[in-house]
Amino acid sequence: MTDQTTGAPRPLPRHAAMDQFPSSGNELLIGGMPISRLAARVGQTPFYAYDRRLIGTRIAELRATLPEAVQLHFAMKANPMPALVAFMAARVDGLDVASGAEMRVALDAGADPRRMSFAGPGKSESELTQAVAANVLLNVESLREVRVLADIASRTGWKPRVAVRVNPDFELKSSGMRMGGGPKQFGVDAEIVPDLLREIGRLGLSFEGFHLFAGSQNLRAEAIVEAQQKSFELALRLAEHAPAPVRSLNLGGGFGIPYFPGETRLDITPIGDNLAQLAQRAERELDDAELVVELGRYLVGEAGVYVARVVDKKMSRGHTYLVTDGGLHHHLAASGNFGQVIRKNYPVAIGNRMASPSVEQVTVVGPLCTPLDLLAERMDLPAAEVGDFVVVFQSGAYGYTASPRDFLSHPQPVEVLV
Ligand SMILES: *Cc1c(COP(=O)(O)O)cnc(C)c1O
Repeated sequence: MTDQTTGAPRPLPRHAAMDQFPSSGNELLIGGMPISRLAARVGQTPFYAYDRRLIGTRIAELRATLPEAVQLHFAMKANPMPALVAFMAARVDGLDVASGAEMRVALDAGADPRRMSFAGPGKSESELTQAVAANVLLNVESLREVRVLADIASRTGWKPRVAVRVNPDFELKSSGMRMGGGPKQFGVDAEIVPDLLREIGRLGLSFEGFHLFAGSQNLRAEAIVEAQQKSFELALRLAEHAPAPVRSLNLGGGFGIPYFPGETRLDITPIGDNLAQLAQRAERELDDAELVVELGRYLVGEAGVYVARVVDKKMSRGHTYLVTDGGLHHHLAASGNFGQVIRKNYPVAIGNRMASPSVEQVTVVGPLCTPLDLLAERMDLPAAEVGDFVVVFQSGAYGYTASPRDFLSHPQPVEVLV
């Protein structure tokens, strides 16, 4: 397709996410391997590929920016692939799990249970027992959880380690997904935390600290700084009611990554500066508690791609459709149905035509019988043919396990760590 006024080829829109993955000629390189060869190595499309080197770079950058005293945790629900979790376990300070099954994967990966925490509403008695047996820190989210833990302790003699997940009395501004403030199913409302702390003391549970998680996918450093600041102040106030010194204060995370045109990278420098001040204050004012940040998406989201193959190319009333063997059932978020209000395209490329000059506007769909099954809508892409690879970037978090993979009973994607 050409520019109508000049006749010159229209330049392809290029998302910064793509710059992390170099190309060689027409071939996108993933983990250093040309996509066609990687697909042959994987043995099928569709697949997810996560690049170790990129994850390592992200962790190194965080380590260089966050104060040394701040513990960096990986929130596993963003990507619980066992090989990836093992990779992370060796590189971060701790893992945060959100189910009994995630806890098993983390323990298999060699994570130190003393450096693991378990959050999430509605933990079952079995999950609570598993976590106590494993000696994992429980971020308790209700009075019921505290009572069940006390029963487990009296039955087994094992001492539950607990932190209170607080539903703060403020909201994280400009967050993609708010998870604190106002009425919420997460955590315990700040105003009734003092009562819960009294109960924890009375029941003899081992109190270790507080957990606050205000929201997810935030690209504004000022908003994150403000939330961390307010979380710290709230923890200071609540600590007065605690049955034991605060040993750890988990300030959550919410660090976002840019998905859509116009979004810019989160600047983590001011967050690092603020955390350095908070770490000093924690030393003096909060029983020398250690500060924790827990990140999911920010650590792994940009390091992953989803790759599907074009199985049909159709015209409908002047519009071109690329039909692929992947879609919503594998990558709900890219289809726009995982928390988006107005659907926008994830960054997409044709992985074996990276240097192609011929551009056409296409809609990329999956094989499902629903108009929701979109991977890219009216996007300028290199002219593609059946057999080509459609690559969706920014797919390392909330992809494989956040998708309804049984919907319509198509073949499952696979995941590889490269
Ligand atoms: C989901 C979740 C995270 C991770 O959020 P990201 O936006 O992926 O960083 C961290 N902490 C808690 C408690 C969560 O539920």
